[in-house]
Amino acid sequence: MSKMVVDCGICYDDYDSKDQVPCIGTCGHTICDRCRLSMTSSRCPHCNRKEAFAVKHVNKQLWDLIQFSNFVFGKNEEKSDVDMKQCSECHQPAKRLRICRDCCLNSGAAPKHLEVEEVSESEAKSICEKIRSQALCGDCIIDGEHFRHKTVNVDTFIDSYYSFLRNEK
Ligand SMILES: [Zn+2]
Ligand SMILES: [Zn+2]
Ligand SMILES: [Zn+2]
Ligand SMILES: [Zn+2]
Repeated sequence: MSKMVVDCGICYDDYDSKDQVPCIGTCGHTICDRCRLSMTSSRCPHCNRKEAFAVKHVNKQLWDLIQFSNFVFGKNEEKSDVDMKQCSECHQPAKRLRICRDCCLNSGAAPKHLEVEEVSESEAKSICEKIRSQALCGDCIIDGEHFRHKTVNVDTFIDSYYSFLRNEK
């Protein structure tokens, strides 16, 4: 068994016992309480289920597991060493960023179809950099126009999109 790394899938912050306790929705998804409170509706940001987070239910089982893991392996001390990235909208530092897959594909920032057989490595890299420059923090995703859109971790998206551009299987 190794140390459990569990963080909120929306803001990517670690859960804590104060304002970021893990809260479970009626759909079974868990987000931190800060994200729950900052949402404009109680829909689940993962699966869109209505009223999923209308009532605060602490995910006690998950919280106990985190406590146990911290007790056995020690608390995450390297938290401040994580190199922070910057949100393109609010310019606040964030541990990890997300990208709106829907807007990226629909706006043409990430073309869905390629006009050429193969995109050169440098072109592919510059498209990926352009996509990266539109990455958003969890707060901006929740509060903004992308709330009902499909958003994904920016690194995961760029990895797979780069392979698509380069025609790699
Ligand atoms: Zn959160
Ligand atoms: Zn859900
Ligand atoms: Zn932001
Ligand atoms: Zn969007």
